[in-house]
Amino acid sequence: MRVVSNALYQAIRFSGLYHERSAVSPDYMVKVGREVGRHMNCRTLRELVNQCEGLGLGALEVHHWDATGMTLELRNCSCDGLPPVDRCVCDFEAAVLEGALAGLLSKTPGDEVVVKEVRCSLSGHSICQFEAHFVETP
Ligand SMILES: [Zn+2]
Repeated sequence: MRVVSNALYQAIRFSGLYHERSAVSPDYMVKVGREVGRHMNCRTLRELVNQCEGLGLGALEVHHWDATGMTLELRNCSCDGLPPVDRCVCDFEAAVLEGALAGLLSKTPGDEVVVKEVRCSLSGHSICQFEAHFVETP
């Protein structure tokens, strides 16, 4: 399933990243990303990998996974092709992963997953790398 073309998505991203008075606020993109992730309804990591590919988000790989979190990488991330910038910009992709992983991994209502991008291909890395932290309700 492809919701929007990659070119249209890139245009929206470009507007949000490089224009100070953009109509697309980063907070809004994060809210949309979490909703997209939740509606993926992934039951396995394999389904998440397949859906990331299908949505044009990139080739997702899980590199480390323990009780407290996981390290994920996106090759050919949907940010590829945007002008270089000296920071991590894939808040939308992180939010999609957050929403999807929350549904996939939470055992108790209230358990949370927080995902942050720690390396971005727009700032000279070969991949976009994300750290997911699991926050269990006591
Ligand atoms: Zn990135």
